[in-house]
Amino acid sequence: MNILLVEDDSVLTNGITQALQQSGYTLTSTDSGRYALQLLEVTGFDLVILDLGLPDIDGMEVLRHLRHKKIALPVLILTARDALNDRIDGIKQGADDYLTKPFDLGELEARIHALIRRCYAGFNTQIQVGQLTLDTQSHEITANKQLINLSAREMGLLEMLILQSGKVVCKDHISQRLTAAGEALADNAIEVAIHRLRKRIEPYQVIIRTVRGLGYLLEAQS
Ligand code: CA
Repeated sequence: MNILLVEDDSVLTNGITQALQQSGYTLTSTDSGRYALQLLEVTGFDLVILDLGLPDIDGMEVLRHLRHKKIALPVLILTARDALNDRIDGIKQGADDYLTKPFDLGELEARIHALIRRCYAGFNTQIQVGQLTLDTQSHEITANKQLINLSAREMGLLEMLILQSGKVVCKDHISQRLTAAGEALADNAIEVAIHRLRKRIEPYQVIIRTVRGLGYLLEAQS
C-alpha cells in the first residue's frame, strides 16, 4: 500500500513515516499542496493523508482539485482545527475521514486500516484466493491458518495481487505501489520478485499468470 503524506510539520511527518513504514506501508511525504497535486497526477497511491494548514495552497484546495479531477482515492484529513464547520467542509469536499491533532499514532493506523478496508475490500476484512487468505486489517497472509513468511517486497506484491485478484495488475502499477515517488523498480526486478513469489505460493492452489505486454494476474487454480 502506497501512501502520500501531505504535512508541513516535520516532526509529525517523521513520526508518521516511521510508524507506517514499520507496519509495511510505502510512504512518500511532501509539505507542499501544489507538489502533492503533481505527484497525484503521475503516481499511483492507495491513500492520502492530508494536513489542512499547508505553506502554499490549503489542504482543502488540494482535496477540491483531487475530486474535481475525479481522482477517487481515499483521503484522511489531519488538522489542528477542530471546528465543526471545517469538519463538515472536509466531508462535503469528499474527505473520507478526519483526525484532529494531536492524535495517537495507533489511532491514525486504525483509521487507515478501516479506510483501506472500506474502500478496497468492502466490509469483509478477509479476502480468500485459493488457499490463501489476506487479512486486510493485519496485512497477514495465511494458508490453512498458517502464517506465510514473505519479504516486505513479496508481501506488498502478493497483497496487491490478492486485492485485485482476477484482474490484470500492470508492471507500472506494481513499480509505483512498491516504491516511494520518484523511484522505480526495473522490469527485471519485478520479474525476479514475481518468480520468487510464484515459488512461494505454488502449494496453495493459486497461480500468477503473465499477461504478455500487460502485467500479472492472480487467480485460484481450478
Ligand atoms: Ca500544518
